[in-house]
Amino acid sequence: MVRCAWLVCLVPATLLAQEGAGARFERLMTDLMVVDTHVDTPWYVVDEGYDVGVRHDYYEADIPRLREGHAGAVFFGLMATPESYAPHAWVERTLDLIDSVHEMARRYPDDLEVALTSGDIRRIRSQGRVAVLLSVEGGHQIDDNLRILRNYYRLGVRYMTLTHFKTNNWADSSTDAVVHGGLSPFGREVVREMNRLGMMVDISHVSPGTFDDAIETSRAPVIASHSSVRALCDTPRNMTDDEIRKLAAKGGVIFINFNVAYLDQKAWDAFRSFRDERDREIAAMMAARKDDPRRFELKRAIQRRYRQRLPPVDSKTALRHIDHVVRLAGADHVGIGSDFDGISGMAPAGLEDVSKYPALVRGMIEMGYSDGDIRKIMGENLLRVMKQVEEAAQ
Ligand SMILES: [Zn+2]
Repeated sequence: MVRCAWLVCLVPATLLAQEGAGARFERLMTDLMVVDTHVDTPWYVVDEGYDVGVRHDYYEADIPRLREGHAGAVFFGLMATPESYAPHAWVERTLDLIDSVHEMARRYPDDLEVALTSGDIRRIRSQGRVAVLLSVEGGHQIDDNLRILRNYYRLGVRYMTLTHFKTNNWADSSTDAVVHGGLSPFGREVVREMNRLGMMVDISHVSPGTFDDAIETSRAPVIASHSSVRALCDTPRNMTDDEIRKLAAKGGVIFINFNVAYLDQKAWDAFRSFRDERDREIAAMMAARKDDPRRFELKRAIQRRYRQRLPPVDSKTALRHIDHVVRLAGADHVGIGSDFDGISGMAPAGLEDVSKYPALVRGMIEMGYSDGDIRKIMGENLLRVMKQVEEAAQ
């Protein structure tokens, strides 16, 4: 009996020691929770009738590719950009996008369900489906009205990015003028109300002052839903080492953005040199072809043409950003926030769309990461933070 028990204990340990990288990858993928905290697909659904149920050879997310990528949960970003929408249209646009996610789940119930809690994500994943979640990308979308914030929560919104690219009436953006020196008194009230509701506070896009004020005001950990590392690529959209340390000290997580212009310095410099010209060309074409159903295809063609001016960037660069945070703050404080479908096709080679998440797992195995750390980075860190935010709610 004793010898038998001894053998039973010994055999798995021996097998594990001899397990090759390939077998380890296969084993991890059987039950790994993969969470992407930022995917912008809903605007294509509303504007172009993009059908997430079928596989596409353009854009970066649909159900077949989510399945291929072993996705467990995806947060859809809902944008009503001040650059494209007048203030009176922000709430309606947000409601349209919220509706598109609920309708997606209604149309494809065997594949998708809207998750409202971290527990929902685990349940939906264990049922072999993909949890979809809602997030509002820009505090301006509440129209300076806490009632609207609360209604977004009731409709399923589980994080809000305090600003988008523009400074709003209560928070400064990292890519616009400093008006409030961070959060205004109302901005702090928004953060407190988000805490009370159990809505995660997202500091991607915000200015250094807004970051500090959000960290100071929030009772719960905060997240950066789609930002990368400033020390590796110096853009105002990325976080400094000091900010990453403060975020981690509060229990928060930075979810790495895959936009090559935020991953690689040369790509950022090249992107900056053509961005305005590209956007003007797209705007002129879209205005001239308002009623042409091919206009979105033409838009993608323009984006592809400019994309070719960028230097090659591959998945290893994204892994370097993850590794930087692991060394700086630990594996509890980094995750995946691809920004797919919000980056004009500017994804790295080997990480072209949501089907490629497993490439990150292979990469982390090669880098010598433990199973536990890979699990945290690929999804568990988001579940931990979301649960903490739920528990801090009243
Ligand atoms: Zn964004």
